Amino acid sequence: MGLFRLLFWIAIIAAAFWLWRRFTRPAPRRPQAPDESAQPIVRCEQCGVHIPRVHALSLDQHWYCSQAHLEQGRKSGER
Ligand SMILES: [Zn+2]
Repeated sequence: MGLFRLLFWIAIIAAAFWLWRRFTRPAPRRPQAPDESAQPIVRCEQCGVHIPRVHALSLDQHWYCSQAHLEQGRKSGER
């Protein structure tokens, strides 16, 4: 009878532990600050190099890697 009670309590404790683990499992956190590696990549219209969009210059829905290429792209776009 003692063994049965011991197994009973082990089962209760195991179940309680499982439930505790289940409810205290850390939720997947989404950092507010954008990750550098998660930045969208854009392509320079002038030279075709791929750069993070935060470092790119935009003009009329086109992206450029530098001010010089932006100027070149604007001149070639005018015609
Ligand atoms: Zn470029």
